[in-house]
Amino acid sequence: MIGRMLQFLYHGDYDVLNIAADITRLLDAASPSTLFFDTMMLAQDFDFEIQAAMYAIGDHFEIPNLKSASQALFVAELRSKEFRLADLVAAVKLVYTTTSENDYGLRKWVVYRAQQLEGELVRYDEFKALLKERPDFAWDLATKYAKANFLWCPDCECIINLVQCRCGFAGMCGDSICATGEVKSLRCTCCDSEGILQREIPQLDGSFELGVLGRTDQPHARTRKAPKKKSRAG
Ligand SMILES: [Zn+2]
Ligand SMILES: [Zn+2]
Repeated sequence: MIGRMLQFLYHGDYDVLNIAADITRLLDAASPSTLFFDTMMLAQDFDFEIQAAMYAIGDHFEIPNLKSASQALFVAELRSKEFRLADLVAAVKLVYTTTSENDYGLRKWVVYRAQQLEGELVRYDEFKALLKERPDFAWDLATKYAKANFLWCPDCECIINLVQCRCGFAGMCGDSICATGEVKSLRCTCCDSEGILQREIPQLDGSFELGVLGRTDQPHARTRKAPKKKSRAG
């Protein structure tokens, strides 16, 4: 991994497999000592594990470009067709072990992927074990991104459900407005205020009366409409 970091610092990217010869050359240029790299050992790792490890190294040595490069490669792995349920569970364990709790660079992607695959994951025993083993992941899975796909209006205190964005305005779902991260371009469908919707929502205490939500457990209960885009003329 350190070899890959050196490779990144010299070339601006890193190799997953063909690293040994390049690093030997770089280090030979720096020192005349003979170095030996085990190519087979380097080639055995799964790619997403390498990307997550490189992300952790980028964080540790404070190399933001290495973090963003390894994040992009990690996401590409996560979305590849060959990625299996067992890989996703392994990736969650790895990411929630190697990154700090306020670094969501990789965490948000494994959570969002797991939210998209809930139908499959609930049929997989290892996933149940994972939820018990990693309550911090379980909390994120239950409360963030796809599960927080709404914005909050501080004016009318309404929760506005999103329709086009599916990731809670976290820039992962591919929606064009979500990708810009500009909540300000949206208008509250409840009070019609412009540019004040926000992702952060105030905490509640236990005395909050559920009746004020206007939601019941009746079928066909009314739900709030999605926000409208700001008109171009305005
Ligand atoms: Zn989104
Ligand atoms: Zn409002």
